[in-house]
Amino acid sequence: MIQIGTMKLECGKQVQGMLHVENHDLELPVRAICGCKEGPVVLITAGIHGAEYIGIQTARELSKELDPEKISGTIVFLLVANPQAAFTYTRLLVPEDGKNLNRAFPGKKDGSLSEKIAYTIEHELHSQADYYIDLHAGDTHEQVMPFVYYPGVAKEEVMEKSRKMAEATGMEIRVKSSATTGSYSYAAIEGVPSILIERGGGGSFTREQLDSYKRDVVNVLSWLGVISASQETEKESSQEEIINAIYTDSLAEGFWNPVKLSGERFLKGDLLGTVEDVWGTPLQLCHGEFDGIVLYETTAMGVREGDSLIACGECRQLS
Ligand SMILES: [Zn+2]
Repeated sequence: MIQIGTMKLECGKQVQGMLHVENHDLELPVRAICGCKEGPVVLITAGIHGAEYIGIQTARELSKELDPEKISGTIVFLLVANPQAAFTYTRLLVPEDGKNLNRAFPGKKDGSLSEKIAYTIEHELHSQADYYIDLHAGDTHEQVMPFVYYPGVAKEEVMEKSRKMAEATGMEIRVKSSATTGSYSYAAIEGVPSILIERGGGGSFTREQLDSYKRDVVNVLSWLGVISASQETEKESSQEEIINAIYTDSLAEGFWNPVKLSGERFLKGDLLGTVEDVWGTPLQLCHGEFDGIVLYETTAMGVREGDSLIACGECRQLS
């Protein structure tokens, strides 16, 4: 039986409690479902970017709805990893230290709050997980098309299992990532097969988007054998892999006007969006560098130098 902070996990029970952040007075809400039957430990985290609310709501609802009697193994939900941002509608960062928690791994026991949260997640949760699903979305200023990241920096067998988890979501697009300092990417480096799901954004969501998000997660849990296959829901017919992703940032402060939106396909050379100054003078023209698809775009009109504008992927059909 795994141990999370001071919580007492019991077979056939759903338990909830607060996980104390190392060397800080912040506590994080955790709900765990311990199945009656043997099986893996699956970690599911949400709210690493606190205003990506659809991931938090997916975790809150699924963690209540899944029946411990029907689960093989244990599912540990960290419902909100960055509550300060969730309760203040703060995009991307942990308000206390202004850092991106998903760039703070591996954490530090005596670092700033982001580093302490990362340390706690790593030592209390990653360390006990056999598999890991991290729930994200476009932030308050972004929209994403539904897609799933899997780690491209880890042992071969960990990458392969992660790729299969990504496939099991049934989502249309998967992206192999070269990131190393995110929660899921660092967990993979530590040996835990992991994925990161992106769906929705803009600080809100519809019931339909939420149901789709829950379906993504349930599909993976079913593939892992944690819930019975009969609970697995319909999948997209095929999945494409992004072999090359380009993330374009703004070169100057100005007004961003995206021409192609998340989920839209484009051809090499197509205009994807522009940044203008206040007078209407173009400062930056973004063109497609390949035939591809828009993974996500910034929806905020006002941008600063260095802010993300648009992320594009080059695809090849796999199956
Ligand atoms: Zn995020």
